[in-house]
Amino acid sequence: MDQVNTVQASTSPLRLTEHPLQRCGAWAVAVLAGCDRVEDMTDELLEGVVRRVVGDVVESAIARPDTGAYDWWKVLFALYPNSKPTHAKRPKDRTILSREVVQLFQPDDAEGPERTCTFCGRRCTVLWAKSTLPMFDSVRALNTLPPGTSGWPVCRGCRVALWALPYGAWLTAGSATVLMCDNPQVERQFVTRNARRAGRIRQLGFDGLPATAGPEAVTLQALREHANDAPAATSLWMFKNDNQEPWLRVSGTRTGVARFVHRLAADPDSAKGWRDLWRALERRNQQGRAAVDGATAAARLLFDREGKQSDRLPAELWARSGDAEKIARHTLVRWRALCRLYVEVMYEMDPDRIKPVAELLVTWIAQESPRGRFNEYRRAAGSGYELHKLLMTAGARLYLDGRTQRIEPELLGDLLASGSQGWRERTLLFFEVIEALHDKKMVIGATSGDLADEDNEEIRFDTSDDEVEEYA
Ligand SMILES: [Zn+2]
Repeated sequence: MDQVNTVQASTSPLRLTEHPLQRCGAWAVAVLAGCDRVEDMTDELLEGVVRRVVGDVVESAIARPDTGAYDWWKVLFALYPNSKPTHAKRPKDRTILSREVVQLFQPDDAEGPERTCTFCGRRCTVLWAKSTLPMFDSVRALNTLPPGTSGWPVCRGCRVALWALPYGAWLTAGSATVLMCDNPQVERQFVTRNARRAGRIRQLGFDGLPATAGPEAVTLQALREHANDAPAATSLWMFKNDNQEPWLRVSGTRTGVARFVHRLAADPDSAKGWRDLWRALERRNQQGRAAVDGATAAARLLFDREGKQSDRLPAELWARSGDAEKIARHTLVRWRALCRLYVEVMYEMDPDRIKPVAELLVTWIAQESPRGRFNEYRRAAGSGYELHKLLMTAGARLYLDGRTQRIEPELLGDLLASGSQGWRERTLLFFEVIEALHDKKMVIGATSGDLADEDNEEIRFDTSDDEVEEYA
């Protein structure tokens, strides 16, 4: 019996390929069919998914403009702008339209000319042009057809996957975002969440959706739940098909981020600091709805654009803490924990190595008119050049008073470095200085502060309250 199952598994009509759109679509097919793995798909299950996809396409193509189904049509229009069901002159008759859409997913002809699927390499006969392929002009991996050819060979499984894509992608009315990750469970969870959200879009339309976490936040939560063993990098591809030029934006997380979100969730100060950051980043509109989802804005700080290491988290913490007197004291303590954890996990550096510099500064600040000197430091803290000058002044002054504090040249080099390295180190230093001043009974930061939710409930990276409810 086991042998039979093995044979069946290998005959899955669908393969998971390295092409980001096919890959997302293949996962979506599996999720819609209730399979844990793409290789568990069967022909029968694929039939069911085809019926579902065709039904939703047709429903949306004949829907009235003020309905959720019509918003699904907008999604399809953005992905397949030249296809039959998204055409302005499409038939509005359900039966005729169904017949046309079903044609897209006909099985390959056993007798037809032998071809190889562009995506998965399987034998197939059907050629597809770009009118039925999603966002094809903007995908770097594949470009326009060579002259004299009439289409790309695409097997049935991949054709279904490419139209199941909107169920697996994170959608807006004009864009789609897909995730690639070394860990398949992370990809699957991303797709599962999006498939649920797609159901809401078809029912309620985009305007009816509760404020929902964006793709970056959904990715972090999936990393939190599934990537605790092996390091896993992620990559998000966001496509937009606006009226001018379609475009593609790539961002991703380094392998360290999976570990970082684990450590963060396990450390109460860091987890609360992350939540404080959400709140600081959240923006509400006049109706009180979240115009910017704090969870998503915070999650985005762990993503790099186009593979450039930008360390946006420490940069943001710095930007928010410069006016330290206005930040609650407990938030400064938590942001220090967050910043230390970041440096420790992402760069494998000991955050305590910066302490001698903090001590030098604090000794100097405490020596004479501390408020004035602290403000002087704060003004210099963001700039390598200004900080260097200040450290020289402070060092010279302490030396004259018979106190010396040596700073390792290597450490000084790190602190004064240009680019994100310098930012990171100087932000770390800033929080250390505030903490060391606190030890000397000089409190920086607002003493009040809302401690209402000081509970230790487990942090989620992807949610506002209404998002947790299952869609019925
Ligand atoms: Zn294929």
